[in-house]
Amino acid sequence: MEKKKRIVVLGAGESGAGAAVLAQVKGFDVFVSDTSSIKDKYKEQLDRYGIAWEEGHHTPELILNADEVIKSPGIPLTAPMIVELRKRNIPVISEIEFAGRYTHARMICITGSNGKTTTTLLTYHILKSAGLKVGLAGNVGKSLALQVATCDYDYYVIELSSFQLDNMYDFKANIAVLLNITPDHLDRYDYKMENYVDAKFRIVRNQTEDDAFIYWNDDPVINEKLSKLTLKSQRYPFAETHEPGTQAYTDHGELTIDTPEETLTMKTDELSLLGRHNLYNSMAAGLSACLLNVKKEAIRKALSDFESVEHRLERVASVRGVQFINDSKATNVNSCWYALESMKTPVVLILGGKDKGNDYTEIEQLVRDKVKALVFLGVDNSKLHAFFEGKVPYITEARSMKEAVDKSYALASPGDTVLLSPCCASFDLFKSYEDRGDQFKACVRAL
Ligand code: ADP
Repeated sequence: MEKKKRIVVLGAGESGAGAAVLAQVKGFDVFVSDTSSIKDKYKEQLDRYGIAWEEGHHTPELILNADEVIKSPGIPLTAPMIVELRKRNIPVISEIEFAGRYTHARMICITGSNGKTTTTLLTYHILKSAGLKVGLAGNVGKSLALQVATCDYDYYVIELSSFQLDNMYDFKANIAVLLNITPDHLDRYDYKMENYVDAKFRIVRNQTEDDAFIYWNDDPVINEKLSKLTLKSQRYPFAETHEPGTQAYTDHGELTIDTPEETLTMKTDELSLLGRHNLYNSMAAGLSACLLNVKKEAIRKALSDFESVEHRLERVASVRGVQFINDSKATNVNSCWYALESMKTPVVLILGGKDKGNDYTEIEQLVRDKVKALVFLGVDNSKLHAFFEGKVPYITEARSMKEAVDKSYALASPGDTVLLSPCCASFDLFKSYEDRGDQFKACVRAL
């Protein structure tokens, strides 16, 4: 009998555990190794399929005999085991690359520095509401590999980070969406922006003239790269205003989405997601759906009844005329800029936390124009004081979410908005941005 091909999976999170199941189902000799401890639910999943695994360390002799290795996106290419594998010319691929070999479903793949999760969930919502057999995969939801092993979908909407794109070679996106590129994760790319840009552009790899590339037309980094690239796929750029070639744009409060088959129009104030950034996300999702021939009415309806994604400009409640919005995922200044830009009432802004070398100049004008009071919520607020003192009518501090919400509520008048959009990471006072957002919502609901 021919010896089974050996697949080793490094890292047993959602993507690794899913890849292992798919490899097992496809008849490979599978082994999973993780240097940290594996979560119980993934151990149970591996055991259920009879897959061998180890945790807490890598055993080289069980790994270096692999024919192919599937690497979790969290493991950097510089990790010693990856370096060793490459030295021996053992192919190292991503879970998405592996899963892509076993499905004929059409792939809608979304990447960008900001907005991936929102656009992925919105696109999925449109396709699912329209009755398509569609799976949600990548950074959100279940791994693509597990779904390929256990479900039978015609379409997948996949959120791809640059780390997932790194080890993709033959995989092809039928529809590739690139939302924007701003510097991020440069520590994983030798501190070279060009390497990060190249990773993002892997999303168009292998595309043919039958495939579509949707991107933000006003992004200088994307345009610079496009000017040097020969693309086979059809281009669908979007922008806020109509520019030569744009396939989605707005004019006098009306959104137009134009594809060879369809032209869809709708009022921008019918879009369920707030803010200019979400207009872009809605355009990208709407373009994808139009290209898949989803009916116009279904797209319009889904774009207007989508419930916003938790912790991203999420409307929490209105308490005696004061609107509370949770944007806890705004962990950098740029995302807070988009939140403030979308505000139509006077704002009490809660910000602060673990500063990542922020430059607040980017939001200074919007703060001057829209913010009546600032509440600093962090262990060390000195940098915020130094920057904002004298620029807004009122500034105060809080050391807990309850104190921040109580003070904000006291400062707000009916018709105002209290916005949590911190510009900072959460780790000084909270476990995570989710914990920070959850505490905010609980305190608001207790008012
Ligand atoms: P990602 O998955 O890329 O991190 P999210 O959808 O989770 O993106 O949003 C992260 C933050 O970025 C949120 O504060 C959100 O309001 C903001 N954001 C969402 N879409 C965009 C966009 N297109 N451009 C800039 N910022 C955005």
